[in-house]
Amino acid sequence: MKPLTVCAPLRVEASALRRGLRAARIPDAEVRVVRTGYGPARAAAWAAQETKDSPGPGMLAVGGVGGALSADLSIGDVVVASRVSDGSVTIECPSAPLLAGELRRAGLRVKTGPVATVDRLIRQGEHAKLAATGAIAVDMESAPLLAAAAGGPAVVVRAISDTPDHPIVSPRTVSGGITALRSLRQAAPALARWAAAVGPRQVLLASPRSFCAGVERAIEIVELALEQYGAPVYVRKQIVHNATVVADLERAGAIFVDELSEVPDGANVVFSAHGVSPEVRAEAARRNLATVDATCPLVAKVHAEARRFASDGYLVALIGHAGHEEVEGTLGEAPAAMALVESVADVGALRPADSGKVAYLMQTTLAADEASSIVDAIADRFPAATGPGSDDICYATTNRQRAVRAIAAESDLVLVAGSANSSNSLRLVETAERAGTKAYLVDGPEDIQLGWLAGVSTVGIAAGASAPPAIVGQIVAALGGLGEVQTKDVVVATESVQFGLPKELRQRPAN
Ligand code: SF4
Repeated sequence: MKPLTVCAPLRVEASALRRGLRAARIPDAEVRVVRTGYGPARAAAWAAQETKDSPGPGMLAVGGVGGALSADLSIGDVVVASRVSDGSVTIECPSAPLLAGELRRAGLRVKTGPVATVDRLIRQGEHAKLAATGAIAVDMESAPLLAAAAGGPAVVVRAISDTPDHPIVSPRTVSGGITALRSLRQAAPALARWAAAVGPRQVLLASPRSFCAGVERAIEIVELALEQYGAPVYVRKQIVHNATVVADLERAGAIFVDELSEVPDGANVVFSAHGVSPEVRAEAARRNLATVDATCPLVAKVHAEARRFASDGYLVALIGHAGHEEVEGTLGEAPAAMALVESVADVGALRPADSGKVAYLMQTTLAADEASSIVDAIADRFPAATGPGSDDICYATTNRQRAVRAIAAESDLVLVAGSANSSNSLRLVETAERAGTKAYLVDGPEDIQLGWLAGVSTVGIAAGASAPPAIVGQIVAALGGLGEVQTKDVVVATESVQFGLPKELRQRPAN
């Protein structure tokens, strides 16, 4: 692959980019900044000459200032183009989320979206018409310049120098130009990191991945509650631990609260997939709240086991992580008869009234190998200890851990789609790392640091049970913007588990 060429239409833009690269000590041989000239005709001429001089795909970046079309952009913000169009030619830039994330981590305010290339300065009043095409920013060169990439990886970075409220008067009087050029300078080193991440890759997809039956059911419950009762529907805690799922449901009218005290009397409230303690149910009943329970049936099974062991006079050791909602809910079933065990060391602190009556249960999303060492320690200290009838670690957790182990063995890097508060996603990261492969948790492609990808030819992708499948698609698409990607599904199990809906939502209202 040829070194990165950064096209800067104006001299001041080229100079800002060079200064930014120099400040980051990036050698000229790694990144070539070229002044390509103002306007679409000069851009097209440069691209034609470049393609003639250096045929074949190359990696290309366009860096310069641009005009905002979207009202939420301010002078100095940076737009990374998801696609560029001049009305006749449209060029996709799939790696935009990767670069956008990198620029955000560099301290810039960044928005990703379509950029329109026009052939003259737009006048006041023309912004709305262009914005109606979906474009969030406008420039005069990107579309013709990207022709020189000849299908190779390409990105466009435009620092906002003018907005509909502060329009540009002429190219020489760039209002907000200094602020925009400062942003451009700050953005330049990320272009070099983007170039270092470019390359063809194999992507191994862990399967099963993403939503489990309990998560699908919980999301459907909120959607149906919104449909049946109308917005707002309150949800105690995050319905599942995923930022995208929560944001989507919030847009649909769900209001997430931490405690029932935040829910108005008489309102509809959904209990999350992680379950609640009897105390929370009692409070809801006292307050006359209309509740729908989205507790996963496999979590409810652990609650039932806790009640059974406690009523039979056992001390119940719950193996799990302190503070997790599922653990709090299960402990709440029999607080006086239960003890949380987070590690082998905690087993020594168990003080049963009768050492022959010790039982253990588990959080459903634990790593199997981590839990088994604690079970061994319990069995060593209390040989008569008894466990659940069937495994508490659920099928979805087990399958996803097996799948991530399978891809980790073949990958240089593993990316796990999931949110930071998702226990089962965090366990996938740990499982991959225990298999000897560097692994990172990402909520989406913007969380992927370009430095992780440099020199990496095989990327494994797994997804926690609460991560939407679309996120995996977005990550694969973004990697595809860095070079050719070949995907392979690594299937360790197939899943067909389905759970029924709570009775309150089984009967849909007649239309
Ligand atoms: S991860 Fe397991 S316990 Fe949790 S919601 Fe999914 S199926 Fe239920």
